[in-house]
Amino acid sequence: MPNPKRRHSNHRTRIRRSHLAIKVGASNYCPRCSAAIRTHRVCDNCGYYAFAKGADKKGTEVFQKEEF
Ligand SMILES: [Zn+2]
Repeated sequence: MPNPKRRHSNHRTRIRRSHLAIKVGASNYCPRCSAAIRTHRVCDNCGYYAFAKGADKKGTEVFQKEEF
């Protein structure tokens, strides 16, 4: 059975886990209240959701939370 020959140090473990931290995703600003929000999420501050409407994506339409 393959087994590790030696215990490795805390430093080795920490170097390996340096890549495991959760990264903060892309953020945007609410078109209604200008608070910083995550993309594709309802705004935490005012409860509105906005997205570009249609294939041409010209205007940005703002919807209230109750419309979903
Ligand atoms: Zn908002």
